[in-house]
Amino acid sequence: MHTATASAPPQTSVSLLAPLSGSLFAIEHVPDPVFAQKMVGDGIAIDPTSQSLLAPCDGEIIQLHPSHHAVTLRTLQGLEVLMHIGLDTVALRGKGFTPHVKVGDRVKTGEALIDFDADYIALHAKSLLTEMVITNGDRVQTLIGRSGSVTVGEDIILEVTLAGAVDAETATPVGEQTTSAPIVIPNPIGLHARPAAVLANLAKHYQAKIQLHRGNDSANVRSVIALMNLQVVQKETVTLTAIGADAKAAVLALTDAIARGLGEDVSVPAVAPLKPAQSQQSQPLRPRSTDANLLLGVSASPGLAVGQTYRVREDVLSIVETAQNPVAEKQQLDAAIAQAMLEVEAVRAKVEEQGKPDKAAIFAAHRELLADPELLDVAHSYLDQGKSAAFAWKQAFTAQAEQLARLPNALFAQRANDLRDVGQRVLRLLVGATATAASYPPNTILLAEDLTPSDMATLDREVVKGFCTLAGGATSHVAILARSMGVPAIVGAEPRLLELPDGSSVILDGSQGTLRLHATPDELERVQQRIAQQQARQTTDRQYATYPAVTIDGYRVEVVANIGSLNDAKESVALGGEGVGLLRTEVMFMARALAPSEEEQTTLYRSILQVLGRDRSLIVRTLDVGGDKPLSYLPMPHEENPFLGERGIRMAFDQPDMLRTQLRALLRASGAGTLRVMFPMIGRLEEIQMAKAILEEERQRLGIAPIAVGIMIEVPSAAVMAEQFAKEVDFFSIGTNDLTQYTLAMDRGHPKLAPYVDSLHPAVLQLIAQTVKGASQHGKWVGVCGGSASDPQAVPLLLGLGVKELSVSIATIPSIKAQIRTLNFAHCQTLAKQALTLSTAAAVRALCPLVDE
Ligand code: PEP
Ligand code: MG
Repeated sequence: MHTATASAPPQTSVSLLAPLSGSLFAIEHVPDPVFAQKMVGDGIAIDPTSQSLLAPCDGEIIQLHPSHHAVTLRTLQGLEVLMHIGLDTVALRGKGFTPHVKVGDRVKTGEALIDFDADYIALHAKSLLTEMVITNGDRVQTLIGRSGSVTVGEDIILEVTLAGAVDAETATPVGEQTTSAPIVIPNPIGLHARPAAVLANLAKHYQAKIQLHRGNDSANVRSVIALMNLQVVQKETVTLTAIGADAKAAVLALTDAIARGLGEDVSVPAVAPLKPAQSQQSQPLRPRSTDANLLLGVSASPGLAVGQTYRVREDVLSIVETAQNPVAEKQQLDAAIAQAMLEVEAVRAKVEEQGKPDKAAIFAAHRELLADPELLDVAHSYLDQGKSAAFAWKQAFTAQAEQLARLPNALFAQRANDLRDVGQRVLRLLVGATATAASYPPNTILLAEDLTPSDMATLDREVVKGFCTLAGGATSHVAILARSMGVPAIVGAEPRLLELPDGSSVILDGSQGTLRLHATPDELERVQQRIAQQQARQTTDRQYATYPAVTIDGYRVEVVANIGSLNDAKESVALGGEGVGLLRTEVMFMARALAPSEEEQTTLYRSILQVLGRDRSLIVRTLDVGGDKPLSYLPMPHEENPFLGERGIRMAFDQPDMLRTQLRALLRASGAGTLRVMFPMIGRLEEIQMAKAILEEERQRLGIAPIAVGIMIEVPSAAVMAEQFAKEVDFFSIGTNDLTQYTLAMDRGHPKLAPYVDSLHPAVLQLIAQTVKGASQHGKWVGVCGGSASDPQAVPLLLGLGVKELSVSIATIPSIKAQIRTLNFAHCQTLAKQALTLSTAAAVRALCPLVDE
């Protein structure tokens, strides 16, 4: 027996036995960033061959997830060991798991904790890979995992040396102070919650005490709240200081990560300055209406909705102020926070599973808030004064939220709502209140002082037609989530909103930021008709979504999808997608600590091919990052003009291992369906020749059949020389987003230039015509995967110019197919010819007016 025993309390290390038989994996290789990036903690993963999870050492069960797929055990030395069976298994809601323990049980090494049905889990969850991680990393000095195959209850798989009573936060670190060079913040909206959470999380990998300074102010980088309180905005200069053994390494790594935007796309322009209503002091100037029947607010999510109001009232939880046993209260608080952490993680996983990784980041930031050292410090100081866990926690988070809300910068002030959201979650757990999923009458327009991201994640879209809140701004997380869910919404509304009796009939115009009260039956009728017409058209388009897109004179166009994930692939097939014209592989490379392995990539490509089936092809674009889209694990020198720098294929040649790994994964997956590879940003003939040579080398090494090769046409030189390029490839796909940017020499993300960066500019159309002509000289086909393929005004022209395949955004598949079925190809050809003679984008748009719903 290798475990710690009760008779040896002052131990400095803990040995954890294999809780399952199977093969070990480094935690970094788990195909889930939450584990791979050690956000939950450091540890190890097992691909199990046994089906009963056993205690890896003696201890007490401090948490058992309600879905029974995860359990946390506290060892006698205070280490908290989370064991998480499978990936995304929370979604199984307990099916396939049989727990043998409950919270509070004391267990001995080798005792059964949870039995599970491996067949069921393998079929219904993402993976069986089981993680064992230490969630209180501050107690860990070193952690050594072993590798290879192990037998349950026999082999030690983790050796943990304890940090003793010393923790990174409270210890007085030794050594010289290291100071970074000045760092300019590149993030469009500064160090707000999401990048702050990434920074705090990165800092946890180091022992050193690290501070971030802006002028005379400074913050502990492990505290998201402290970082947000600094209100660092774009282009401000900060410095880092660190003291401790690994101070130098910490400063170097964190400086680099901050300069790269902490996982955010820093190429997007700064958000337009907010209107005074949103950007001024804590009491924003609200738009006020002079019309008693019209209530004004700020547009948060566009769209029309008609319904009856329902006022959401906040739960009032009853809390006892004092408690007898501070140790027990602390344990309760820790357990509630751990449980809340798991709940938030489940929401994050659900949002990510819905194909919204950027929205999932909101909940990833919530997890960091839950672990915020400053928040915990305040709560602990109340516990030390004899207060109950619930009272201490409430005082801590409300004080911090109020402090945030008072910040003059609205972007930071709005994050107070996130803190209240996670705060309430823990509080409910502490007082034993269950968060019942709210049920509302049909056609509800919710009115509330404020809603939280968690409210949004559980909103029933069938019943809730829209919402209107007093608080919030267009950049609040609630507004971001509303937009992604297509829920019309207004925030920052006039206070009289809350005086409206429940059941009032209203018209909510999310685009205009208005709520019409006491609408006449006539008005209601008209708006309802408009909504109904739009919906009917959508429904019909969806009904016929699987029908081919053939013009009335018999010209067939393939309508395929632009996707970024496996979920997108599923969604696109459900909406009638005839394949994938662009898999943006950068999605799987971004916002993580390490590049995906060959295995992980092969699995993804293979899974997408399986979803598409034999009849639909998959075009995979090799990694298109660099310059404007940095990867945190790929240091690149600063570039003056990132769009003209090492982007796409240029970056791939600079990182040949990464390219080769991806090509091998593609080749290995290719047998599962029809896979084509496509190289981005090709502008010179030598580039495609070199890329093909590398592909061929890897193909021969693997002994796999050849796969079709294409290029993106997004650099004007490639369009102009399409005839020469056509000899080299099997197909072209025109990236009109970049082609327009480079043709017109206008940054595609520039807020002021946005109205002019129009893909229907005749110069771009000329290049498309030239591309099709060059391709046809060698019998090659041309598709379009840029934004104009999803633009109904562009569709007739692209057809007329000879484009055979339109790769569109998933949601527009049914409507673009429906539109094509109304077109006459001969007429499209005439239109295209005419368009090529025009001088401005506006004239082209006038030639192809939108047919109104
Ligand atoms: C394009 O440039 O049109 C394109 C499809 O590529 P991305 O938008 O990913 O740069
Ligand atoms: Mg592009």
